[in-house]
Amino acid sequence: MRFDHDASLRPALRALRGYEPIAPPEVVAMRYGVPPERIVKLDGNENPYGPSPRALAALAAPYAAHRYPDPDQRRLREALAARHGVPAECIVAGAGSDELIDLLFRTYVLPRDRVVIASPTFGMYAFDAELHGAEVVDVPLRDDWTPDGDALVAAAAAARAVFIPSPNNPTGGTLPPALVGRLLDSGALLVVDEAYIEFAHAPSLAERAAAGEPLVVLRTFSKWAGLAGLRVGYGVLPAPMARVLMQVKQPYGVNVAAEIAALASLEDSALLDERACVLTGERDRLAAQLAALGWLQPAPSEANFLLVRLDRGDALSVREALRRHGVFVRAFDHPRLRRHVRISVGTTADSARLLDALTAIAGELATEGEARS
Ligand code: PMP
Repeated sequence: MRFDHDASLRPALRALRGYEPIAPPEVVAMRYGVPPERIVKLDGNENPYGPSPRALAALAAPYAAHRYPDPDQRRLREALAARHGVPAECIVAGAGSDELIDLLFRTYVLPRDRVVIASPTFGMYAFDAELHGAEVVDVPLRDDWTPDGDALVAAAAAARAVFIPSPNNPTGGTLPPALVGRLLDSGALLVVDEAYIEFAHAPSLAERAAAGEPLVVLRTFSKWAGLAGLRVGYGVLPAPMARVLMQVKQPYGVNVAAEIAALASLEDSALLDERACVLTGERDRLAAQLAALGWLQPAPSEANFLLVRLDRGDALSVREALRRHGVFVRAFDHPRLRRHVRISVGTTADSARLLDALTAIAGELATEGEARS
């Protein structure tokens, strides 16, 4: 008898839905006949300014691409330790914070364990839960997109872990500090994903994680440092947990180019902080401009994106109409987001193109009343 791949497939993977990533812009642009240089890409929460000048210079200079990277990530962990004021032994880096999410599941989550999320939220937690045969317990955000604290704490008490981004993707709100304390006492591991914290007023919880609370703080170079394509993220966590993750991880997850770009970015952190500040200013200006159009309602956001409620058309018709103008925004396959799009904050010129396109398409879209009749 030969190997039967269907019969041998792990049961947890038989009905796998998979993660729905965004398509490369050239692919979408070609479909819509838009010249690539005309694209305004506001669908991936990327940094419109790109990597810092020092990171670009480090990547342009010769580096040892023929050598394996340091499996202990010594230089990167030391530099991150200095940035956060925590011991290097509390840090683990990976190929994007996505790798850290996967590592946490592989290390701590058993099949059939419960994992709590608060939807709508970042899709990777449910994706990894499915991959590992864990049960997702969703405690939906309230109508104003704030977390339902009591329900979250109750669900956490019967779960292995709770995954919450602060600020949350796609809604943009942060986790209330009082709720953090209650979740830490729930018995579950609390994972606070701070991918967008550089755009928020809320302080990072990294020091509390390093101090030994049952807490993992996830961070990334993808947004603040503009290195999404190089894939570098990290976790700050209690030292004993970090030691285990360092043993479980792939030895060479952070590649040599990613490591030198991340180190150079940390040397350029003042400039990157300034760019984040410019983006938050642009975010607030854009939110006011969108609201002024009269049919768009942006939710308050502490991140580099806005979740916008549509009083005309729906998520798919607005995304489609904007694509024909070369402006890419994100729509979600989520029952509560059928009339919302997520718009990443770009440059002032990007906002101007977006606003022009929205003005141009407004007439084509049905208002809510018309859509029902
Ligand atoms: N966490 C959240 C909340 C995100 O929105 C994203 C990216 N969309 C990530 C993590 C992934 O970050 P990375 O590029 O570091 O894997």
